[in-house]
Amino acid sequence: MGVVAEAPQGRRRFSVGYVVGADGARSTVREMAGIASDVSAPTMSAMMGLVRIPDDQAVPVGWHRTPRGWLITKKGFDGHTLVHTLACGDGSSRRHVPLTLEELSSQVAWIVGHAVTMSAPRWLSRFSDFTRLARTYRAGRFFLAGDAAHVHFPIGGQGLSTGVLDALNLSWKLGLVVRGAAADGLLDTYGLERRPAAQKVVDNTRAQVALMGPGTELDSLRTLLTGLLESGRGNDFLSGMISAQDTVLPASPRYGSPHEGTFLHNIELITAKGPSDLIGLLGEGGEPLLLLFGEGGGRYAQTARAWERSLRVVRCRPAGLVPYSAVLVRPDGYVAWASDGGGPLADALAALFGAAPGPGPGPVPGLEEVPAPGPGAAPGLEGVPA
Ligand SMILES: Cc1cc2nc3c(=O)[nH]c(=O)nc-3n(C[C@H](O)[C@H](O)[C@H](O)COP(=O)(O)OP(=O)(O)OC[C@H]3O[C@@H](n4cnc5c(N)ncnc54)[C@H](O)[C@@H]3O)c2cc1C
Repeated sequence: MGVVAEAPQGRRRFSVGYVVGADGARSTVREMAGIASDVSAPTMSAMMGLVRIPDDQAVPVGWHRTPRGWLITKKGFDGHTLVHTLACGDGSSRRHVPLTLEELSSQVAWIVGHAVTMSAPRWLSRFSDFTRLARTYRAGRFFLAGDAAHVHFPIGGQGLSTGVLDALNLSWKLGLVVRGAAADGLLDTYGLERRPAAQKVVDNTRAQVALMGPGTELDSLRTLLTGLLESGRGNDFLSGMISAQDTVLPASPRYGSPHEGTFLHNIELITAKGPSDLIGLLGEGGEPLLLLFGEGGGRYAQTARAWERSLRVVRCRPAGLVPYSAVLVRPDGYVAWASDGGGPLADALAALFGAAPGPGPGPVPGLEEVPAPGPGAAPGLEGVPA
């Protein structure tokens, strides 16, 4: 497929296998690929700017709710103030029209109920709770990532991180497929895994927007939620949701282990080369890792030989307890398979990379032997304490 790019040096034509549209909310790639989206009309309009407000103006600093909306201000540098307004119930979004100082000033006045003088804008911008979620993240050889795939109200600061996680999910899959180390079907899992994650973000931002309604009829709901947060009981759930660390891969096949499809937090490891950790190993080559703990991993290493171009096999010892003797970790940190479920490793490898091309000759690729445990060191076997 041919792609024309316009660079400062002029137009250049590239022959490419795939196109990833990481080109923002108004994505040209999304339009060219003909990818439709689910959209929700805005219910509020928001403005922001870095402006000068004289000290004698009665504009409070911080978050302030009035019967008409919100004013959020923060002292900036150089005598400037960062001003946000949220006009709830105003879905007449003018999001394609550049914001003027006069419009921001009159919006502030309308929300707080008196005129406010402002000047010397450094920048001005507007946004809304308009949402868009692409119906598919893949159309043939086109993919979408970031705001090109999902747009929502920026509350909770989740937009950029959701896009980064898209990129993390797609990049290793594209890398393997492009170099022939995995079948094209692996790329279908990208949207199956990432679209539900974006849907959750869209949903939680809409819930937060609903809670911001200025009317007193929401006060009892706000009081209830404040109580829940102060009790500490909902905090793990909410922080897992906002940070996305609670994400369990929905489309991931399961082979019996409860760890499959979950994010594996960093673990310290002793490898043949010395102390390391999961993040360090994943960062070395960016390929999927089959970690073999203890002495019983030989048969897994033999199974993995047939997919030698797709993964790296490392025999190691964990610094603490682990609940399995072998685990297959994807480059994005998710567990694709673990031995404690009893399911065959070959099935998991075939599902990820495609049917086995057949065992390669010679030793297991990338298999690094780990030194024997010293006195008191963790043997790393299932259920054996450190
Ligand atoms: C007010 C506000 C506050 C926010 N605060 C947060 C926050 O605190 N935390 C957070 O995580 N997120 C936040 N977000 C969301 C975050 O800004 C976006 O989710 C993020 O910037 C999206 O990144 P992106 O790379 O997908 O798209 P963009 O940042 O839009 O980047 C797309 C890039 O593609 C380029 N491009 C487009 N078309 C073409 C083309 N045809 N050829 C070449 N290049 C092209 C553009 O120039 C641009 O550089 C906020 C958003 C808003 C509106």
